[in-house]
Amino acid sequence: MKNGGAVLAAVKYTAIAAAAAILCIALGRAAFTIGQRRSTDASADGGVLVVIDAGHGGEDGGTSGGGLVEKDLNLEVAMIMRDILSSAGVRCAMTRTDDRLLYDAYGDLSDYTGRKKVYDLRNRLRIAEEHENAVFVSIHMNYFASAKYSGLQVWYSPNDPDSKRLADLLQSTVKKYVQPDNDRETKRAGGGIYLLDRLHTPAILVECGFLSNENERTLLSDAEYKKRLALVMSEAIMEFLCAERTGGE
Ligand SMILES: [Zn+2]
Repeated sequence: MKNGGAVLAAVKYTAIAAAAAILCIALGRAAFTIGQRRSTDASADGGVLVVIDAGHGGEDGGTSGGGLVEKDLNLEVAMIMRDILSSAGVRCAMTRTDDRLLYDAYGDLSDYTGRKKVYDLRNRLRIAEEHENAVFVSIHMNYFASAKYSGLQVWYSPNDPDSKRLADLLQSTVKKYVQPDNDRETKRAGGGIYLLDRLHTPAILVECGFLSNENERTLLSDAEYKKRLALVMSEAIMEFLCAERTGGE
């Protein structure tokens, strides 16, 4: 993107963030409602907290393509989202803030040989479950054998009806502001997605793009694009947090 475009984009997306922040204030952050749980003070312990999970890490790079490694992109996007949400007054926690797996986060074993991935996922679940009013957002990158596929895709947990609402909101917001040609629909996670299968809070997994697609790799190599994507995803999360519960059980 040329400088002029970058400035315009920055103004545009700053405006989105400002609008989302104003929306939050207008609707009253003090009344975030998630599922059956209501917090009267989001800033106090027990208030809603967004757990941002950067997938993979350390010896587990995730997928890769064209010199890009998933674990690095996941962390980069997750940390931008953390910064945006925090600056808008949303409490956040990260499952990781550096390049590592989390298998030894709780010191369960003296030797994790052959069990690192199992304990890594188990501990990400533990971190999310430590917070009573958590909204869980896992950040990943996609890959497919055919290089023609591209576009962000959101998976949602089947265990809390608000998960689908968050997933639909994020998917549609990205379509609106970043990927107008993305006609993907959100998908209900099965048992194959460990964290979404087990979490009982609003929980989604975002496959931000395909590292198997050259155009999407080029975009994901661009710092401005990553900021824009993170900002628009954060806006969707803020809108979700601000909305009253619309239905479900
Ligand atoms: Zn992944």
